[in-house]
Amino acid sequence: MLLKRITLLSVSLGLLILCACSSSQGTYLEQAKKIHKEILTLDSHTDTPLMLGRRGLDLGVHNDPHEGGGKLDFPRMKEGGLDAAFFAVFLGQGEETPEAFEVAQQRARSIFESIYEVLDEYPEMAELALSPDDAYRLKEEGKRAIYLGLENAYPLGNDIAMVEKYYEKGARYITLSHTRNNHVSDSSNDPDGPVHDGLSAFGKEVVKEMNRLGMMIDISHISDKAFYDVMEISNAPVIASHSNARSVHNDPRNLNDDMLLALAENGGVVQLCFLYVTQLPPNPPRDSARTALREKYNNFQGLSDEEMENARADWYAIDRDFPSQLPTVADLVDHVDHIVNLIGIDYVGIGSDFDGGGQLEDCYDVTEMPNITAELLKRGYSKEDIEKIWSGNFMRVFREAQNLREV
Ligand SMILES: [Zn+2]
Repeated sequence: MLLKRITLLSVSLGLLILCACSSSQGTYLEQAKKIHKEILTLDSHTDTPLMLGRRGLDLGVHNDPHEGGGKLDFPRMKEGGLDAAFFAVFLGQGEETPEAFEVAQQRARSIFESIYEVLDEYPEMAELALSPDDAYRLKEEGKRAIYLGLENAYPLGNDIAMVEKYYEKGARYITLSHTRNNHVSDSSNDPDGPVHDGLSAFGKEVVKEMNRLGMMIDISHISDKAFYDVMEISNAPVIASHSNARSVHNDPRNLNDDMLLALAENGGVVQLCFLYVTQLPPNPPRDSARTALREKYNNFQGLSDEEMENARADWYAIDRDFPSQLPTVADLVDHVDHIVNLIGIDYVGIGSDFDGGGQLEDCYDVTEMPNITAELLKRGYSKEDIEKIWSGNFMRVFREAQNLREV
């Protein structure tokens, strides 16, 4: 009888603890959703334009992320309490001949056009944003703010005047390189190693021109040496639109502590990415399927809209057939903790890389963004800290870059 009572007691105690835990988790999430209504939230890097194109995704409707619906659309941004997002106009690195540059510039133009088109189609839901103030105004109006950034300086070609052309098209940052070296900068990931020992001579000119225009310089993807070259040349604070801390996850795409200290000194900001978060268990069948896919589609270079659509369908099929374990929100927030401990609360933000491979187990699409805020609350971050992380820090850099505009 006594035993039975003790068992009953421990069961009910256990249940009580379980309830307490899940209800405090629930409270954090409820609190998080409330905070998202009150502060401006911004994601500084998504590759959602890759989902557009002739027969691409309709951003005006609620899509299913598990059925090829991508990571965000306007209704889901609203549901997830995300007010503003940068859409990357992304071009993979190709040949550096006048003809290839011309093709890349045409491709960039058509990506800008496809974004303007979708924004024209849904003026009641979203608008092109060009300055920090725009996002705050649009939040008041209940609309999403869509900013533009150019990912990879490749389509500048050799013409410095193209920097201003892209600024005029709405781009407010340029990521100097992608995963291969280009004529502007060495990349952190080029298998052949550096070719310029940092920035090229043209790359240094590009940085100065971006300063003159008040355009943010994005140091994500560039080599460590190129990062230090930017630190030396730029007269404005810079961004890493989607990178993490190398001390937490050792990957050349992430910033080491010395770089983070230099970034704080520069007054810049690192926007945490949902890729390069943690070491995941190996998954050889998935890796070889992805490698075969890249080969089949020429590393996604020079594809027609139809080929791009097929490539996308095959990419999702791999996700379905060989699912990978994903990092969690808690793993991501470990990067926040590390950076805040090292350089303080003023230099960190969020740049998911949604639709460019970024995804977390419990932040699989934009509707789950409040889970990040709930984890921050759980770890003791204040609403003021959370506002800095979700937009304040990034907007400070954006404003400073624009204030230094000399035209
Ligand atoms: Zn990227």
